[in-house]
Amino acid sequence: DAHISFYKQGEFTDLCAGPHLDSTGRIKGNAIKLTACNAAYWRGDSKRETLQRIYGVAFPKKEELDEYLAKLEEAKKRDHRKLGRELGLFMTDELVGRGLPMFLPKGYTVWRILENYIRDKELKLGYQHVLTPCVGTVDLYKTSGHWDHYKNNMYSTVIDDEIYCIKPMNCPGGVMVYRAQPHSYKELPMRVGELGLVHRHELKGALHGLFRVRCFTQDDAHIFMRRDQIEEEIMGVVHLINEVYQKFGFKYFIELSTRPEDSMGSDEDWEAATQGLKGALDKLGLPYTINEGDGAFYGPKIDFHLEDSIGRTWQCGTIQLDFQMPLNFGLEYVDENGEKQRPIMIHRVCFGSIERFIGILTEHFAGKFPVWLAPTQVKVLLVSEKSEAWGQEVYEALKAAKVRVEFDNRNEKIGYKIRQAQLVDRVPYMVIIGEKEAEDKTVSLRYRDTTATEVMTLDDFIAKVVTETRERA
Ligand SMILES: [Zn+2]
Repeated sequence: DAHISFYKQGEFTDLCAGPHLDSTGRIKGNAIKLTACNAAYWRGDSKRETLQRIYGVAFPKKEELDEYLAKLEEAKKRDHRKLGRELGLFMTDELVGRGLPMFLPKGYTVWRILENYIRDKELKLGYQHVLTPCVGTVDLYKTSGHWDHYKNNMYSTVIDDEIYCIKPMNCPGGVMVYRAQPHSYKELPMRVGELGLVHRHELKGALHGLFRVRCFTQDDAHIFMRRDQIEEEIMGVVHLINEVYQKFGFKYFIELSTRPEDSMGSDEDWEAATQGLKGALDKLGLPYTINEGDGAFYGPKIDFHLEDSIGRTWQCGTIQLDFQMPLNFGLEYVDENGEKQRPIMIHRVCFGSIERFIGILTEHFAGKFPVWLAPTQVKVLLVSEKSEAWGQEVYEALKAAKVRVEFDNRNEKIGYKIRQAQLVDRVPYMVIIGEKEAEDKTVSLRYRDTTATEVMTLDDFIAKVVTETRERA
């Protein structure tokens, strides 16, 4: 349904998304910059002659160009693929496969902290969690509608002469768990979470670090509810997402997508669903824009676009209302009059993909994770081996207090160790252990983000880190 546009410049007609300028005279000489220039074969045919392809950007004002270039430079420095290597977060290998990242001990530490963070939050909100298989029969995905609507992004295999699909979304799992038991209206809403590993086929040209991968884990949940619970449940989810994004210092904006032309379900259902989403956002006093006709074919949705510390936006959280899947799977509950009713379903994610969220966080923080999230919170740096015994004691005490700590007792200059801990490992706290500290049984503390230094007792320091780690909640 995309619009196709043509642009003409003299005799040249271009098929392009545009927009085009009506005159090159509008470009200011000091607000244009060529960004790349390379050769391309005429019509992609290597037997034909080459053409020069020139890329550039232009802005109405020079200041805007400068701002854009500075942002680009900053984004390059923060590239999570580069930082991921420096910090030892994740790796990829062609032998394993394209778009299939492997998390290294430090990256997996961040992964687990995020996992525990969101699961604990959900538990407090009355969610239950399930774990469902990565592979399922083709009939499961025919029933859910994925085989008809999402087949191109799905991997499949054959087991015992039957087609099986690799799970691209967690919905069928949540639905089957609901369906396995009879439900009364009193049990609803039922909130079923799954940190589910999904695999999707993405074009190899689109793969990018942790941002676009073929295998990732969603912090997914499906909420089964009665019609009169829509607004309150939506509010609950919006509230959760709001809290999580604020925790990381993200600003965000919300889009509400309404009924598309090609859609299923009754007018009444759509009206109730759309009003439920609007009502929840209005009650929370959150501003939003409306994307007319951009909902899914089975229901309207809310998208959260978060803005990182250098102004880029990322679509992460979604809340989707669904009347269709409960119908496809014949889900039921018994109402107060003993009549069978069909529940309504919410699909929601908060991080979206944990892998991608780690990529976003890495760039947002420029690798400087806050204390509660940092894979290594403290590095104990030994000035010389004369103080090794006290250094070891400090290290062991921190470890015993479950602080994520490393001990740098290499035979290197202290200045070098500090630079590495601060600039490469980006560790929030560096503890310097020299003869003075060993004698006084203290630690000399340096901060990653300031030039301040501080001397304190080991117990005080441990209490400080433990308290800051608890701030996770
Ligand atoms: Zn779902």
